[in-house]
Amino acid sequence: MMKFSHTKAITAFTLLFMLMAVISLIAIKKLQYSASTALAARTATVLASTINQARDSYSKNAVAALRAHPDISVQAQYHDKPYAVPNPATFAIELGQAISAPEKGLILHTFSNYPFASRKNSGGPKDDFQKTALLKLNATTLVFERIEMLGETNVLRHAEPIFMEQSCVDCHNMHPDSPKKDWQVGDMRGAVDITIPLSTDDAELTKTVQYAYVIFIAFSVIGLLCMFVTLKRALNLSSELEQQVEKRTAALSHLARTDSLTSIANRRHFEEFGQALFSNQSKVIWPIALLVYDLDYFKNVNDNYGHDIGDECLKAVVNAVNLALRNSQDFHARIGGEEFAIILQDISKEELQRVIDRILKNVSSIEIPDNNNIHITCSIGYTIKFSQSNTTMRKMMSLADQALYQAKLNGRNQAAYINDEDV
Ligand code: GH3
Ligand code: MG
Ligand code: MG
Repeated sequence: MMKFSHTKAITAFTLLFMLMAVISLIAIKKLQYSASTALAARTATVLASTINQARDSYSKNAVAALRAHPDISVQAQYHDKPYAVPNPATFAIELGQAISAPEKGLILHTFSNYPFASRKNSGGPKDDFQKTALLKLNATTLVFERIEMLGETNVLRHAEPIFMEQSCVDCHNMHPDSPKKDWQVGDMRGAVDITIPLSTDDAELTKTVQYAYVIFIAFSVIGLLCMFVTLKRALNLSSELEQQVEKRTAALSHLARTDSLTSIANRRHFEEFGQALFSNQSKVIWPIALLVYDLDYFKNVNDNYGHDIGDECLKAVVNAVNLALRNSQDFHARIGGEEFAIILQDISKEELQRVIDRILKNVSSIEIPDNNNIHITCSIGYTIKFSQSNTTMRKMMSLADQALYQAKLNGRNQAAYINDEDV
């Protein structure tokens, strides 16, 4: 029972541990994913801010000054034109293109619902993300993000609005290429879209995650081992305790069935033995004899020599009778103060007679040290059954008691016999 529950507990813990390992692996992967998403979002914010700041700064500081020069023109299409410099939008677009590395999944793109005629094809929203960004972003929603697949790579798409500054409004409302002439400061003129790859294979991050996982597994295994050891110890301890309890129970049960003075079976044991024997008669080895004996004039011994000497005599009698018996299978019990009973199985009448003679002889030969005057004899009543026929230990006991009474009447220090046919 204990072993079964122990195995069950270990199996449950192992399964739990495996489940925890899988859950934590998933959790760590998720953590790694959200860490790289957070990292990408931060990078995108920095890049967007850099581009916006650069365009603003270029617009306020460079373009404003250059416009004052009569030979220099500020144009969207400035390439191949002498003394032409890019307008702020072109400057920002080209800065984004310069920073981009499409082969690595990093793309910066500025777009608007109102691109200049010269950039009609490339300046408008290109895909669903950019269209949605233009719809969602406004003066209060300053970031729009989505995770998308770019080829095989997971990427973070991050969009931020671009608002009209005073310098932009002046220029755009007057510019012949501008598709909208009623710009006001604070209007959202477009957005910047930054695409950043979610690098789940980031070496440093992967390494840290792997370390964390290995440490987790190591601690879990140590914890599991400690649990096993503790369980094993508890199991050993409880089986030791069980053995001790069994031993003590056996000792107590022996004590409860043993006569403390003579160390042979007591009356309770005698009754249990008799009942058990006759309740399963197939166990009885016929013929079976029951013999009871009682010491003669024992009261006198106590009166003349004291109770302690009386006890000495009782012990000496038990030893003497034991020596007269055939073997330890002859069941010898003290059933009263100085009354004893013996059950002898598989015994012939002749053998029984010899045992009785030995008992009478051994008891009468007892010598008590320092008390040579004490002479002990006993009277014996007995009965014998040769086959299993409607008998009980109680019936045999009654016959043996009657025989004992007869032996006393006949003058003591002798045996008398009664069987049920005689009654
Ligand atoms: P009888 O021949 O008729 O049996 O005479 P008796 O004196 O032996 O009479 P009885 O069998 O009635 O004796 C019982 C006496 O046995 C009473 C008591 O003094 C003594 N006795 C009973 N139990 C013990 C015991 O445990 N220790 C001692 N020392 N004496 C006991
Ligand atoms: Mg007596
Ligand atoms: Mg008696």
